[in-house]
Amino acid sequence: MQRAGKGRTPRRPKKPSNIEKDPVGVYCRIRPLGGEDEECCVEMISSSTIQLHAPDGLKANRNGEYKETQYCFKKVFGIKTTQIELFEDVAKTLIEDLIHCKNGLLFTYGVTGSGKTYTMTGSPGEGGLLPRSLDMLFNSIGPFQAKRFVFKPDEKNGIEVQNQLDALLERQKRDSQQSVPKTPSSRQRVDPEFADMINPDQACKFEGVDEDCCYSVFVSYIEIYNNYIYDLLEDAPFDPIRPKPPQSKILREDQNHNMYVAGCTEVEVKSTEEAFDVFWKGQKKRRIANTELNRESSRSHSVFTVKLAQAPLDADGDHILQDKSQVNVSQLCLVDLAGSERTNRTRAEGSRLREAGNINQSLMTLRTCMEVLRENQMCGTNRMVPYRDSKVTHLFKNYFDGEGKVRMVVCVNPKAEDYEETLLVMRFAEMTQEVEVARPVDRPICGLTPGRRQRNQAFKDELSRRLEERGGPVNGDPVQLNQLIESLPPLPPCELSDPSDDQTLPRLMEVLERRYRIRQKMTEQFNQTANNMKFALQQFESQFSSKENVLHDQRSKLGEKDKVIANQRTEIERLEKKSKTLEYKIDILQKTTEMYEQDKRSLQQELESREQRLQKELAERRRMEQRMQGVVTDTKLKWERECERRVNAKQLELQNKLWVKDEKLKQLKAIVTENGGASGGPAEPPRKPERPSRERDRNVAQKRSASPTPLSTVPPVHPMHRRSHSAGGEKWVDHKPASNLDLDTVMQPIIPNAIKVSTPNEKALSKCHRYVLRHQELASDGEIETKLIKGNVFKTRGGGQAVEFTDIETLKQEDPTAPSRKRRSGSGEGPAQTDDIENRPPVANISSSHGYQKRRRP
Ligand code: ADP
Ligand code: MG
Repeated sequence: MQRAGKGRTPRRPKKPSNIEKDPVGVYCRIRPLGGEDEECCVEMISSSTIQLHAPDGLKANRNGEYKETQYCFKKVFGIKTTQIELFEDVAKTLIEDLIHCKNGLLFTYGVTGSGKTYTMTGSPGEGGLLPRSLDMLFNSIGPFQAKRFVFKPDEKNGIEVQNQLDALLERQKRDSQQSVPKTPSSRQRVDPEFADMINPDQACKFEGVDEDCCYSVFVSYIEIYNNYIYDLLEDAPFDPIRPKPPQSKILREDQNHNMYVAGCTEVEVKSTEEAFDVFWKGQKKRRIANTELNRESSRSHSVFTVKLAQAPLDADGDHILQDKSQVNVSQLCLVDLAGSERTNRTRAEGSRLREAGNINQSLMTLRTCMEVLRENQMCGTNRMVPYRDSKVTHLFKNYFDGEGKVRMVVCVNPKAEDYEETLLVMRFAEMTQEVEVARPVDRPICGLTPGRRQRNQAFKDELSRRLEERGGPVNGDPVQLNQLIESLPPLPPCELSDPSDDQTLPRLMEVLERRYRIRQKMTEQFNQTANNMKFALQQFESQFSSKENVLHDQRSKLGEKDKVIANQRTEIERLEKKSKTLEYKIDILQKTTEMYEQDKRSLQQELESREQRLQKELAERRRMEQRMQGVVTDTKLKWERECERRVNAKQLELQNKLWVKDEKLKQLKAIVTENGGASGGPAEPPRKPERPSRERDRNVAQKRSASPTPLSTVPPVHPMHRRSHSAGGEKWVDHKPASNLDLDTVMQPIIPNAIKVSTPNEKALSKCHRYVLRHQELASDGEIETKLIKGNVFKTRGGGQAVEFTDIETLKQEDPTAPSRKRRSGSGEGPAQTDDIENRPPVANISSSHGYQKRRRP
């Protein structure tokens, strides 16, 4: 990423599309009413909402409705909010950002008297945002500050770094020059009006300061009045005779396209008090100018800028890295804007009115800029933002175009007279909240190992400890020097009393020579010790540097490992999350599967039950069919028999009638013949009427009709029945129940190849293909009737035998003497070979074939 704005401030916008943005933080502070009986038209209804009520005189708007409007803010501070509470919410993070090389802009907005200056500057004991910000900054960076003039503004909005020697020279130069302002550094010299702004136990401190950097704070203070910029810290030589009006400053763009006030005084300050003092000096100047030029202070904007320069210490941790590209500069602008009320309210006239108009113009421009910015951001338009229309907006252009944190405290005076102006303020505040500013990016990390300052300090401490152990530094202690001198051989009395005295001088010479030798010896010893010391030191140094190198390596490795660990941790977290989601999915799938399986089981069960039901119904239907068929057959048989019986009866009756008529006819003939015989021949004696024989009947019938001879009316052979079956080699089961009577008749069914049984058994059935049951019953005429019920045997699927009845043959015994009795045989089918088959008309054939099945289970 491109590093813009190195040593410059604020940073130029980099415009990647994915840049993160934050809305302008807008806070609202309600000041207490001036007097208790004043009408209040602002109410705080929650920690982020206020409600405005129209004052009594203005109660109804055009529609005659009461007007109550609510406005939301990031936070609302009620009348009881203390300065420290406000500072902690509004400005603390801006100071932390400043230390982290991020720019900030904090301004107060509101009508005159709403508490803007109170909020920004405060009063003794009730310090506002500005003194508290300075205090927190110095509490945090205090011990890590660079020596004065190590950082030096380069007049082009940048800051350079120079070495200790140059800085020292410059310090000395400044001390010797009276004209350069010497800023005080002790509390005693602070203006009493500004002293004790902050209660010491309310001091704030940021703990996240990078100790391996050196810091310097520069402050500047400007005032914008009537769209002119004045430097409030400028030390213009004062001419009491012809006081010159203050010179206005111009805005310039630095090489990073950031705006700055050209030639503006930037004072390096080393403590809160010093910074206060500079601020206070500017404040005084402002007041004097206002009085002298008859200006209204509420109509000017004041901008106090805190610039923080920081550069990393070198690898030794002893000196600042002499590399301008490593100097980071960030700034916090604290702006107390002019009162936002419209001109007519101030009842200004003439040039004052024009001036006021200009001031208004700058706030108007601020509003317009916010509107256009908001529109551009919300609608994606690209309208030009008119920053250049006023100095205030032009100066802060880079905060809105570039990056930084922007916060605004909207001050509200709840009194009724301010109501309408307050409404306008609220609308501006609402709109401003919707403007977004690019979030400042984190400062690039310098490649040096952290902890350099501490290591250097530890080294220095250790060195001084060891020197102390070895007797401390050589130069200094006079007692030790005296002891040394006393240890030398004493000087003899050297008073020359006699010109020929030749003893004193040689003695003195001798002592002095001795002393000289001792001194030389001592010098040699000292040199040797010094050399030894030097050597030891060199060794120590090389050891130390190698250790340091090792340490450095280890640290960098540690850093890499840390990075790897962090990466792996995030990877683990990611995987854990993934596994959790997968587990969840599996769970769901399992549940779904279970559901489906249950469904499947229930469906299968249903299917089975339905199949069973179907089978049952089918079986039922088959049984029903069979039963119905049996019933049909039975009924048919019954009716056939009935018909035959009736036909026979009718035949007999008709024959009798016929016979009677015949007799009568014969008698009539005889009478006629008798009568005729009496005249012609002898008459035959009348015949006793007798019952005609069947033969005769037949003859009569033959005479009566031309129907074919009875021989031709052989009982018809059932087309299903095949004689060959009985004639063939089929095996029969001849079932003759024990209850059957032996009729001793020659006409017995002869079944060759038959197994005779009295009860049918499985074994016999399995060996045969055909089955015949001999069944005897009493016929209607009292004779015994034998029925031969015939069927086919076949194997069932279950391994048993089933018999399908196919035919019934009836055998009947008849007394030949009894006219009504007869013996007849029905069917010509089966093994029964009867020789008394009557050749009767087909009506007599009662043999029948049916599909009635008698099932036997094995
Ligand atoms: P402005 O700068 O908006 O014109 P000032 O800050 O000068 O308004 O405030 C006007 C007066 O109101 C001052 O005397 C100030 O002490 C007082 N004042 C403002 N806000 C508060 C507050 N929150 N609590 C107490 N006094 C306040
Ligand atoms: Mg003010």
